[in-house]
Amino acid sequence: MNAAMPAIFFGHGNPMNAITENPYARKWNAIGRGMPRPKAVLAISAHWYVEYTGVTASESPRTIHDFGGFPRELFEVRYPAPGDPALARRIRDLIEPATPVALDDSWGFDHGTWSVLCHVFPEADVPVVQLSIDETKPPRFHYDLAKRLAPLREEGVLILGSGNIVHNLHAYAWGRHPAGAFDWAARFDARVRELVLAGDDMPLVEYEALGRDALLSAPTPDHYLPLVYVLGVRRPEDTVTFPVEGIDGGSISMLSIDMR
Ligand code: ZN
Repeated sequence: MNAAMPAIFFGHGNPMNAITENPYARKWNAIGRGMPRPKAVLAISAHWYVEYTGVTASESPRTIHDFGGFPRELFEVRYPAPGDPALARRIRDLIEPATPVALDDSWGFDHGTWSVLCHVFPEADVPVVQLSIDETKPPRFHYDLAKRLAPLREEGVLILGSGNIVHNLHAYAWGRHPAGAFDWAARFDARVRELVLAGDDMPLVEYEALGRDALLSAPTPDHYLPLVYVLGVRRPEDTVTFPVEGIDGGSISMLSIDMR
């Protein structure tokens, strides 16, 4: 029996997944039921993408509705999980002095975090801390930073990355259901799986070098980089599975990558 907590990348996709009964939501719930209860969650979301490394340090982080144009019902969702100020300080100590870490009490849980966690841990009884992604830094910085966080898995902390391997909103078919994914999206999704299974991290970290499919799939780094954090905390003995699959609207990969 493996004592470490899993590290899981979630493709979060459309915020409406938070309040929609669909296969993604059901599978996220099954992931939560299929793991030992963590002491806390460390979430790295595409939606806290700022010019510094920060960690939420408040006792009761707020639910952030960082989107527009969705139904009122979605704005009424609250995810009342407690924060974990002691874990925030532990994370700061692990990361510094590689880079300064701000203990933040203004951010809370953005929808990258709560739209997934409201299904994974619907009781909202597991404390959650979010770590920001420093948008001024290259992918390799994030990979190296994540390696410093690996010991948390042995301390009962679930590491949760939330983004999308393929995230091209320009091509996304809002509200329509095209027969399939764009070719470049399907190819990049498959390529990422292949490299993850092979344990070949460097091409995944330096993903821009993977060519045109990568550039179309990750036109901006924000939704891709949470994967780099999950790769950074991977242990050689981890088994990789893909508990959620599918490409939504042609250009949003819902792929989840579970390492435990
Ligand atoms: Zn998103």
